Amino acid sequence: MAVAKTIRIPNELLGGGKASAPPGDATVVNRAGEGDIKEFTQAVFRGAPVLGNESRIERRAQAIPDPIERLRYLRRVTSARPEGRSRAHSRFTPLLLACLVLPLSSDALVRSAPALLPPAAANSVAAVEISSVWPVEQNRDYDLYSNGLRIENDLAVANEPRAYRLISSQSPLADEPLRSQPAGIVFHTTESDQLPFEEEQRPRLKRIGRELLLYVRQKRAYHFLIDRFGRVHRIVVESDAANHAGHSLWADSRWLYPGLNASFLGVAFEAQTQTELEPINTAQIHAGRILTEMLRSKYNLPAENCVTHAQVSVNPANMRIGWHTDWGSRFPFRELGLPNNYEQPNPSVYQFGFDYDSTYLQSAGLDLRKGLELADERVRTAATAQRVTVAAYKRFLRQRYRGLTSGMPEFGRTEEN
Ligand SMILES: [Zn+2]
Repeated sequence: MAVAKTIRIPNELLGGGKASAPPGDATVVNRAGEGDIKEFTQAVFRGAPVLGNESRIERRAQAIPDPIERLRYLRRVTSARPEGRSRAHSRFTPLLLACLVLPLSSDALVRSAPALLPPAAANSVAAVEISSVWPVEQNRDYDLYSNGLRIENDLAVANEPRAYRLISSQSPLADEPLRSQPAGIVFHTTESDQLPFEEEQRPRLKRIGRELLLYVRQKRAYHFLIDRFGRVHRIVVESDAANHAGHSLWADSRWLYPGLNASFLGVAFEAQTQTELEPINTAQIHAGRILTEMLRSKYNLPAENCVTHAQVSVNPANMRIGWHTDWGSRFPFRELGLPNNYEQPNPSVYQFGFDYDSTYLQSAGLDLRKGLELADERVRTAATAQRVTVAAYKRFLRQRYRGLTSGMPEFGRTEEN
């Protein structure tokens, strides 16, 4: 009804976003309790109030600045009175509704205008042309491509078919088409045990590499794994989602991607980044480059959507980014034919109000820190343009995140590697 329309005030501006605040699109209806308003309006239409004190009640109600307190007061005084005065009802209802609606409406104008808008999702890295790569041979054992890429198929395994909704960054509540094609790549490291990459270690290198492959296959952890000899193994088939980045977010210049298991391909390098040594060797870099070329060519993937797990991983429990920190630094973007995507402003921060902590900063290289600064700057700019504090704007962004993810299927959201 009309009341709900007039009292639709962003929760943040009313101090919402506290632990008790409900997720989703915040309104006073939510905050006061939908039942409260229903109960109150039903009481009015039953004719519950009034007994000649209309003007006093009205004056007192109008003197209460907080709309929620005003609603509570009205409910209290009306429900405390005996029911069954239809004449009083017909006389008093307009007064009560005016009391309720007009002040709330004017509050809404003062406190929520203009309605908060999400930040612009402008691309900040140069587009990199996609080279044409085409299949030469495809069979049960391997696939061969025109750029020399060979994919081993002996461990390929199915998982859930890929299906996700494209969500526009400017109108995230609109229904968008369901997609089954990937929209980008998340690069990972396995962080598995490493031996020196020397000829004398060959049998042991082969053994632990094989054990790792069987492990990630069992977990449906990635779509591809590049081992230390530069071989590319297919794990989860390309048509299915893999469990590589459950709680994760990314955005490009048009779309938001919450939960990248379904929307992005997972490419892992057999590597360990917790040492001073170079994480991957030249054979792996070459394999990563020709695999990326093929995937970008096959699915028309924009370069801005080829990013690392540390850039996309989030922890919704504490609203911080970087739950996983693999490839938080030293990812060889340029060697893989990509722009330095570390420098992109982090969408989890500027689109959804996530924070980051010192642990994350320690794992992040200088380039990634630059991306965080750019993201913070976007939040500040959007808050200033919309005349709210940064804290209030971040509450709006967080509410937006919760609203966006609350209806998402549970499958795979927590699975990540
Ligand atoms: Zn990872």
